Amino acid sequence: MKDRNTIRFSDSDRGIRAAISFLQKGGLVAFPTETVYGLGADARDERAVADIYRAKGRPAHNPVIVHVADATAGQRLIDLPEAGLKAAEVFWPGPLTLVAPVRENSGIAPICRAGAETLAVRVPEHRLAQALLKAFSGPLAAPSANRSGQVSPTHADHVMEELSGRIDGVLDGGPCAVGLESTILGFDADGTARLLRPGGVSLEDLERALGTVHSDTIIDDTAPSAPGQLSSHYAPGARVRLNADAPSLGEAWLGFGPDPDRVSAISINLSPSGNLEEAGANLFAALRQLDEWLGESGVIAVAPIPEIGLGCAINDRLSRAAAPRD
Ligand code: AMP
Ligand code: MG
Repeated sequence: MKDRNTIRFSDSDRGIRAAISFLQKGGLVAFPTETVYGLGADARDERAVADIYRAKGRPAHNPVIVHVADATAGQRLIDLPEAGLKAAEVFWPGPLTLVAPVRENSGIAPICRAGAETLAVRVPEHRLAQALLKAFSGPLAAPSANRSGQVSPTHADHVMEELSGRIDGVLDGGPCAVGLESTILGFDADGTARLLRPGGVSLEDLERALGTVHSDTIIDDTAPSAPGQLSSHYAPGARVRLNADAPSLGEAWLGFGPDPDRVSAISINLSPSGNLEEAGANLFAALRQLDEWLGESGVIAVAPIPEIGLGCAINDRLSRAAAPRD
């Protein structure tokens, strides 16, 4: 379905107005958030959201996140338990998605929920995302703006590479500051918070604000009925070898902290100083770059990343990239 002329909208009032005019007509416009670029459409318009699924090649069983400008708008869409209200107060706007029962009068197209009774909602902090949501003055459904199964885009160029010809445009806001997708938090029947996907807000920060957060059920986009299994959702073409001390002969190197004595000609360091925020921001662009240099036959050896703070989300994405392919 390559039938659209994809426009790159500038970071300006004019760019935002042009983007809005497409969204109001049921079009598809990618926009930057602090996590990754999202592929936006009017979340009240069933046909527009169906076009998101088509453009991405996203399986129909995988629901999308709905973005709104502020917590008040978010609470009009979903019925949050006490821990959810607290999470919204502390972390919105920011890289946290909350999943809770949808309100009957939400006005959100059911396709966004892909059959679930719950809806995923986020309030992004990014200046351009905020400007777009305020000017649109409605909810935007926006999964990551990549072809299904590919690495999420953290630059407008990544969006163009994958979706040019399939969407109406991309609002170019430069690189994304966090660079990892949002943390997704759901709630048990008793109201206890449950981590569904590690992401831009760390488990440690969530627990500091909310008390206990269960973290033993991670969603699997490829088989939502069997949570907890690893999927190869974030898949580069090259193979990925984790927790490597150094690259073996012929392997590319993805470093973190000081590099080993012998590194490959093809190498990128996510953060030479061992800073997890910096590594998160660089991760997806680095995977794309190594992939482009290596092609399908290559192997990327990856340095160990500490399993703390944002390291948990980085390791989650790397494990998925390393998971066996179909
Ligand atoms: P992305 O395409 O990167 O924005 O991913 C959105 C993520 O949110 C996917 O992993 C979805 O499975 C998840 N998600 C969206 N809506 C829900 C929901 N109602 N319940 C559980 N997970 C959801
Ligand atoms: Mg995605």
